[in-house]
Amino acid sequence: MTRVFSGIQPTGHLTLGNYLGAMRRWAEVDQHRADSLFCVVDLHALTVDHDPARVRRLSRQTATLLLAAGLDPEVCTVFLQSHVDEHTRLSYLLECVATDGEMRRMIQYKEKAAKERERGGSVRLSLLTYPVLMAADILAYGTDEVPVGEDQAQHVELTRDLAVRFNQRYGHTFTVPRTTLPPVAARVMNLQDPTRKMGKSDDSGVGVVYLLDEPDVVRKKVLRAVTDSGREVVYDRAERPGLANLLDILAACTGGNPESLADVHDSYGSLKKDTAEAVVEVLRPLQARHRELCADPSYVEGVLRDGAEKARALARPTVDTAYRAIGL
Ligand code: ADP
Repeated sequence: MTRVFSGIQPTGHLTLGNYLGAMRRWAEVDQHRADSLFCVVDLHALTVDHDPARVRRLSRQTATLLLAAGLDPEVCTVFLQSHVDEHTRLSYLLECVATDGEMRRMIQYKEKAAKERERGGSVRLSLLTYPVLMAADILAYGTDEVPVGEDQAQHVELTRDLAVRFNQRYGHTFTVPRTTLPPVAARVMNLQDPTRKMGKSDDSGVGVVYLLDEPDVVRKKVLRAVTDSGREVVYDRAERPGLANLLDILAACTGGNPESLADVHDSYGSLKKDTAEAVVEVLRPLQARHRELCADPSYVEGVLRDGAEKARALARPTVDTAYRAIGL
Protein backbone atom coordinates (compact mmCIF):
# COMPACT_ATOMS: atom_id res chain seq x y z
CA MET A 1 0.00 0.00 0.00
CA THR A 2 1.18 3.51 -0.79
CA ARG A 3 2.71 5.24 2.23
CA VAL A 4 1.86 8.92 2.63
CA PHE A 5 3.50 11.32 5.09
CA SER A 6 2.94 15.03 5.60
CA GLY A 7 3.45 17.54 8.37
CA ILE A 8 2.32 20.89 9.65
CA GLN A 9 4.16 23.34 11.89
CA PRO A 10 2.67 24.67 15.13
CA THR A 11 4.04 28.15 14.47
CA GLY A 12 0.73 29.99 14.47
CA HIS A 13 -2.97 29.59 13.97
CA LEU A 14 -3.79 27.42 10.97
CA THR A 15 -5.00 29.19 7.85
CA LEU A 16 -7.25 28.63 4.90
CA GLY A 17 -4.02 28.08 2.93
CA ASN A 18 -3.08 25.13 5.16
CA TYR A 19 -6.56 23.71 4.77
CA LEU A 20 -7.05 24.10 1.00
CA GLY A 21 -3.40 23.42 0.14
CA ALA A 22 -2.95 20.40 2.36
CA MET A 23 -5.26 19.32 5.20
CA ARG A 24 -8.46 18.92 3.23
CA ARG A 25 -6.83 16.54 0.80
CA TRP A 26 -5.28 14.57 3.65
CA ALA A 27 -8.73 14.09 5.16
CA GLU A 28 -10.82 13.59 2.04
CA VAL A 29 -8.44 11.59 -0.13
CA ASP A 30 -5.10 10.50 1.28
CA GLN A 31 -6.12 8.83 4.52
CA HIS A 32 -8.60 6.63 2.65
CA ARG A 33 -6.42 5.52 -0.23
CA ALA A 34 -3.05 5.16 1.49
CA ASP A 35 -1.36 4.12 4.68
CA SER A 36 -0.85 7.65 5.93
CA LEU A 37 0.87 9.55 8.72
CA PHE A 38 0.24 13.19 9.60
CA CYS A 39 2.60 14.87 11.96
CA VAL A 40 2.57 18.11 13.91
CA VAL A 41 6.19 19.05 13.36
CA ASP A 42 6.85 20.81 16.64
CA LEU A 43 10.66 20.61 16.41
CA HIS A 44 10.45 22.77 13.29
CA ALA A 45 8.68 25.45 15.32
CA LEU A 46 11.89 25.97 17.31
CA THR A 47 13.82 27.18 14.27
CA VAL A 48 12.68 30.78 14.77
CA ASP A 49 12.22 32.93 17.86
CA HIS A 50 9.59 31.08 19.92
CA ASP A 51 7.76 31.09 23.20
CA PRO A 52 7.82 27.60 24.78
CA ALA A 53 4.33 27.77 26.26
CA ARG A 54 2.90 28.99 22.95
CA VAL A 55 4.53 26.19 20.95
CA ARG A 56 3.15 23.62 23.41
CA ARG A 57 -0.34 25.13 23.19
CA LEU A 58 -0.26 25.47 19.40
CA SER A 59 0.93 21.87 19.00
CA ARG A 60 -2.23 20.62 20.75
CA GLN A 61 -4.39 23.11 18.89
CA THR A 62 -2.92 22.05 15.54
CA ALA A 63 -3.49 18.38 16.32
CA THR A 64 -7.06 19.17 17.38
CA LEU A 65 -7.66 21.02 14.12
CA LEU A 66 -6.30 18.12 12.09
CA LEU A 67 -8.89 15.88 13.74
CA ALA A 68 -11.57 18.56 13.29
CA ALA A 69 -10.69 18.70 9.58
CA GLY A 70 -11.58 15.04 9.35
CA LEU A 71 -8.41 13.03 9.98
CA ASP A 72 -9.62 9.80 11.52
CA PRO A 73 -7.18 8.14 13.96
CA GLU A 74 -8.84 4.81 13.14
CA VAL A 75 -7.52 4.97 9.57
CA CYS A 76 -4.42 7.18 9.75
CA THR A 77 -1.71 8.06 12.26
CA VAL A 78 -1.65 11.51 13.86
CA PHE A 79 1.24 12.38 16.17
CA LEU A 80 3.74 14.96 17.39
CA GLN A 81 7.22 14.89 15.88
CA SER A 82 8.98 15.37 19.23
CA HIS A 83 7.34 12.21 20.60
CA VAL A 84 9.28 10.07 18.12
CA ASP A 85 13.07 10.30 18.60
CA GLU A 86 13.76 8.53 15.31
CA HIS A 87 13.30 11.86 13.46
CA THR A 88 16.28 13.53 15.12
CA ARG A 89 18.39 10.36 15.04
CA LEU A 90 17.93 10.11 11.29
CA SER A 91 18.34 13.84 10.76
CA TYR A 92 21.94 13.69 11.94
CA LEU A 93 22.79 10.93 9.47
CA LEU A 94 21.25 12.97 6.67
CA GLU A 95 23.29 16.01 7.73
CA CYS A 96 26.26 13.84 6.91
CA VAL A 97 25.14 13.50 3.29
CA ALA A 98 23.72 17.03 2.77
CA THR A 99 25.93 20.01 1.94
CA ASP A 100 25.78 23.52 3.34
CA GLY A 101 25.52 24.97 -0.20
CA GLU A 102 22.38 22.94 -0.77
CA MET A 103 20.84 24.27 2.43
CA ARG A 104 21.66 27.89 1.65
CA ARG A 105 19.89 27.62 -1.71
CA MET A 106 16.51 26.85 -0.13
CA ILE A 107 14.08 29.67 -0.88
CA GLN A 108 12.28 29.37 2.45
CA TYR A 109 15.59 29.63 4.32
CA LYS A 110 16.50 32.79 2.43
CA GLU A 111 13.12 34.37 3.12
CA LYS A 112 12.91 33.42 6.80
CA ALA A 113 16.55 34.29 7.47
CA ALA A 114 16.06 37.72 5.87
CA LYS A 115 12.99 38.27 8.06
CA GLU A 116 14.89 37.35 11.23
CA ARG A 117 17.71 39.72 10.29
CA GLU A 118 15.25 42.52 9.50
CA ARG A 119 13.86 42.13 13.01
CA GLY A 120 17.39 42.54 14.31
CA GLY A 121 17.54 38.92 15.46
CA SER A 122 20.10 36.26 14.65
CA VAL A 123 19.45 33.22 12.47
CA ARG A 124 19.33 29.89 14.30
CA LEU A 125 21.45 27.13 12.82
CA SER A 126 18.36 24.92 12.93
CA LEU A 127 16.67 27.22 10.40
CA LEU A 128 19.41 26.31 7.94
CA THR A 129 19.24 22.59 8.68
CA TYR A 130 15.43 22.45 8.89
CA PRO A 131 15.02 20.84 5.42
CA VAL A 132 17.27 17.96 6.57
CA LEU A 133 15.03 17.29 9.55
CA MET A 134 12.08 17.46 7.18
CA ALA A 135 13.81 14.91 4.95
CA ALA A 136 14.25 12.68 8.00
CA ASP A 137 10.54 13.08 8.85
CA ILE A 138 9.67 11.78 5.40
CA LEU A 139 12.35 9.13 4.85
CA ALA A 140 11.97 7.47 8.26
CA TYR A 141 8.62 6.07 7.14
CA GLY A 142 9.51 4.70 3.72
CA THR A 143 7.21 7.39 2.32
CA ASP A 144 6.06 7.15 -1.30
CA GLU A 145 4.08 10.39 -1.50
CA VAL A 146 4.20 13.74 0.25
CA PRO A 147 1.00 15.76 -0.26
CA VAL A 148 1.97 19.40 0.28
CA GLY A 149 1.29 22.88 -1.06
CA GLU A 150 3.59 24.32 -3.72
CA ASP A 151 5.74 26.17 -1.16
CA GLN A 152 7.10 22.87 0.16
CA ALA A 153 7.92 21.31 -3.23
CA GLN A 154 11.57 22.43 -3.11
CA HIS A 155 12.08 20.73 0.25
CA VAL A 156 10.64 17.47 -1.05
CA GLU A 157 13.01 17.72 -4.04
CA LEU A 158 15.89 18.02 -1.59
CA THR A 159 14.58 15.01 0.31
CA ARG A 160 14.67 13.01 -2.92
CA ASP A 161 18.25 14.11 -3.61
CA LEU A 162 19.36 13.10 -0.11
CA ALA A 163 17.63 9.72 -0.35
CA VAL A 164 19.23 8.95 -3.73
CA ARG A 165 22.67 10.08 -2.52
CA PHE A 166 22.47 8.04 0.68
CA ASN A 167 21.32 4.96 -1.25
CA GLN A 168 24.13 5.34 -3.77
CA ARG A 169 26.81 5.74 -1.13
CA TYR A 170 25.68 3.31 1.52
CA GLY A 171 23.37 0.84 -0.17
CA HIS A 172 19.64 0.91 -0.72
CA THR A 173 18.00 2.18 2.47
CA PHE A 174 15.33 4.76 1.61
CA THR A 175 12.30 4.88 -0.64
CA VAL A 176 12.58 7.96 -2.88
CA PRO A 177 9.36 9.94 -2.30
CA ARG A 178 7.47 12.22 -4.65
CA THR A 179 5.41 15.38 -4.11
CA THR A 180 1.70 15.46 -4.83
CA LEU A 181 0.15 18.91 -5.26
CA PRO A 182 -3.58 19.71 -5.03
CA PRO A 183 -5.33 20.36 -8.38
CA VAL A 184 -6.36 23.89 -7.33
CA ALA A 185 -5.25 26.27 -4.57
CA ALA A 186 -1.78 24.78 -4.33
CA ARG A 187 -0.75 28.27 -3.24
CA VAL A 188 -3.36 30.41 -1.51
CA MET A 189 -2.13 33.98 -1.42
CA ASN A 190 -2.41 36.69 1.24
CA LEU A 191 -5.63 38.67 0.65
CA GLN A 192 -3.89 42.00 1.26
CA ASP A 193 -0.74 41.16 -0.70
CA PRO A 194 -1.41 38.53 -3.35
CA THR A 195 2.28 38.30 -4.20
CA ARG A 196 2.90 36.56 -0.84
CA LYS A 197 1.47 33.23 0.27
CA MET A 198 -1.13 33.19 3.02
CA GLY A 199 1.09 32.08 5.89
CA LYS A 200 0.22 31.30 9.50
CA SER A 201 3.13 33.23 10.93
CA ASP A 202 2.16 36.50 9.20
CA ASP A 203 2.46 39.37 11.64
CA SER A 204 -0.69 41.20 10.69
CA GLY A 205 -3.62 38.85 10.25
CA VAL A 206 -5.80 41.06 8.00
CA GLY A 207 -4.89 39.26 4.79
CA VAL A 208 -5.05 35.82 6.37
CA VAL A 209 -8.18 33.76 6.98
CA TYR A 210 -7.65 31.58 10.04
CA LEU A 211 -9.55 28.30 10.38
CA LEU A 212 -11.08 29.47 13.64
CA ASP A 213 -12.14 32.93 12.41
CA GLU A 214 -15.81 33.69 13.13
CA PRO A 215 -18.03 33.93 9.99
CA ASP A 216 -18.23 37.72 10.20
CA VAL A 217 -14.47 38.05 10.47
CA VAL A 218 -14.08 35.81 7.40
CA ARG A 219 -16.58 37.95 5.47
CA LYS A 220 -14.83 41.17 6.42
CA LYS A 221 -11.40 39.85 5.40
CA VAL A 222 -12.59 38.50 2.04
CA LEU A 223 -14.65 41.59 1.19
CA ARG A 224 -11.61 43.77 1.89
CA ALA A 225 -9.29 41.66 -0.28
CA VAL A 226 -7.02 43.67 -2.56
CA THR A 227 -7.90 43.26 -6.23
CA ASP A 228 -7.02 45.90 -8.85
CA SER A 229 -8.66 48.83 -10.55
CA GLY A 230 -10.11 46.83 -13.46
CA ARG A 231 -13.78 45.84 -13.72
CA GLU A 232 -13.96 42.69 -15.74
CA VAL A 233 -13.64 39.37 -13.89
CA VAL A 234 -10.93 37.36 -15.65
CA TYR A 235 -8.60 34.61 -14.41
CA ASP A 236 -5.02 35.75 -14.93
CA ARG A 237 -2.55 34.79 -12.20
CA ALA A 238 0.31 36.91 -13.57
CA GLU A 239 -1.54 40.15 -14.35
CA ARG A 240 -4.43 39.98 -11.86
CA PRO A 241 -3.07 38.04 -8.88
CA GLY A 242 -5.61 39.29 -6.33
CA LEU A 243 -8.57 38.36 -8.49
CA ALA A 244 -7.03 35.02 -9.45
CA ASN A 245 -6.49 34.23 -5.77
CA LEU A 246 -10.18 34.82 -5.00
CA LEU A 247 -11.18 32.66 -7.98
CA ASP A 248 -8.81 29.90 -6.84
CA ILE A 249 -10.24 30.02 -3.32
CA LEU A 250 -13.81 29.96 -4.61
CA ALA A 251 -12.99 27.09 -6.97
CA ALA A 252 -11.32 25.11 -4.19
CA CYS A 253 -14.25 25.68 -1.82
CA THR A 254 -17.00 24.84 -4.32
CA GLY A 255 -15.26 22.22 -6.45
CA GLY A 256 -15.53 24.50 -9.51
CA ASN A 257 -12.90 25.69 -11.89
CA PRO A 258 -11.46 29.21 -11.70
CA GLU A 259 -11.86 30.10 -15.40
CA SER A 260 -15.54 29.17 -15.54
CA LEU A 261 -16.17 30.93 -12.23
CA ALA A 262 -14.67 34.07 -13.77
CA ASP A 263 -17.23 33.80 -16.60
CA VAL A 264 -20.22 33.66 -14.28
CA HIS A 265 -19.27 36.72 -12.21
CA ASP A 266 -19.82 40.16 -13.63
CA SER A 267 -18.40 42.24 -10.79
CA TYR A 268 -15.66 42.08 -8.18
CA GLY A 269 -18.32 42.66 -5.53
CA SER A 270 -20.33 39.57 -6.42
CA LEU A 271 -17.17 37.45 -6.65
CA LYS A 272 -16.05 38.58 -3.21
CA LYS A 273 -19.46 37.95 -1.71
CA ASP A 274 -19.68 34.43 -3.14
CA THR A 275 -16.11 33.66 -2.09
CA ALA A 276 -16.74 34.86 1.46
CA GLU A 277 -19.86 32.70 1.79
CA ALA A 278 -18.10 29.67 0.27
CA VAL A 279 -15.27 29.98 2.80
CA VAL A 280 -17.72 30.39 5.69
CA GLU A 281 -19.50 27.20 4.58
CA VAL A 282 -16.27 25.23 4.24
CA LEU A 283 -15.17 26.26 7.73
CA ARG A 284 -18.53 25.71 9.46
CA PRO A 285 -18.37 21.91 10.03
CA LEU A 286 -14.68 22.08 10.91
CA GLN A 287 -15.31 24.72 13.57
CA ALA A 288 -18.24 22.76 15.03
CA ARG A 289 -16.11 19.61 15.31
CA HIS A 290 -13.29 21.66 16.83
CA ARG A 291 -15.61 22.89 19.59
CA GLU A 292 -16.59 19.29 20.39
CA LEU A 293 -12.98 18.13 20.52
CA CYS A 294 -11.95 21.02 22.76
CA ALA A 295 -14.47 19.80 25.31
CA ASP A 296 -12.50 16.53 25.56
CA PRO A 297 -8.74 17.26 25.60
CA SER A 298 -7.93 13.82 27.01
CA TYR A 299 -9.25 12.28 23.78
CA VAL A 300 -6.76 14.32 21.72
CA GLU A 301 -3.93 13.43 24.13
CA GLY A 302 -4.83 9.74 23.75
CA VAL A 303 -4.81 9.99 19.95
CA LEU A 304 -1.35 11.59 20.06
CA ARG A 305 0.01 8.97 22.45
CA ASP A 306 -1.25 6.06 20.34
CA GLY A 307 -0.12 7.81 17.15
CA ALA A 308 3.43 8.22 18.48
CA GLU A 309 3.59 4.57 19.41
CA LYS A 310 2.50 3.46 15.95
CA ALA A 311 4.87 5.93 14.27
CA ARG A 312 7.84 4.83 16.38
CA ALA A 313 7.28 1.19 15.48
CA LEU A 314 7.23 2.10 11.78
CA ALA A 315 10.27 4.39 11.84
CA ARG A 316 12.63 2.36 14.02
CA PRO A 317 13.54 -0.41 11.53
CA THR A 318 14.35 2.08 8.74
CA VAL A 319 16.43 4.27 11.02
CA ASP A 320 18.27 1.25 12.44
CA THR A 321 19.04 0.10 8.89
CA ALA A 322 20.39 3.57 8.06
CA TYR A 323 22.65 3.47 11.17
CA ARG A 324 24.12 0.16 10.11
CA ALA A 325 24.47 1.23 6.46
CA ILE A 326 26.43 4.39 7.32
CA GLY A 327 28.89 2.51 9.54
CA LEU A 328 27.58 2.70 13.08
P1 ADP B 1 2.92 27.59 7.04
O1 ADP B 1 3.58 28.09 5.84
O2 ADP B 1 1.51 28.07 7.21
O3 ADP B 1 3.76 27.66 8.29
P2 ADP B 1 3.52 24.74 7.02
O4 ADP B 1 4.93 24.95 6.57
O5 ADP B 1 3.27 24.23 8.39
O6 ADP B 1 2.67 26.04 6.76
O7 ADP B 1 2.83 23.80 5.97
C1 ADP B 1 1.74 22.93 6.22
C2 ADP B 1 1.14 22.56 4.89
O8 ADP B 1 0.29 23.62 4.44
C3 ADP B 1 2.17 22.33 3.80
O9 ADP B 1 1.74 21.25 2.98
C4 ADP B 1 2.14 23.61 3.01
O10 ADP B 1 2.51 23.41 1.67
C5 ADP B 1 0.66 23.99 3.12
N1 ADP B 1 0.46 25.43 2.98
C6 ADP B 1 0.88 26.39 3.85
N2 ADP B 1 0.50 27.61 3.41
C7 ADP B 1 -0.16 27.42 2.23
C8 ADP B 1 -0.78 28.29 1.29
N3 ADP B 1 -0.83 29.60 1.49
N4 ADP B 1 -1.36 27.74 0.20
C9 ADP B 1 -1.34 26.40 -0.01
N5 ADP B 1 -0.77 25.53 0.84
C10 ADP B 1 -0.18 26.02 1.95
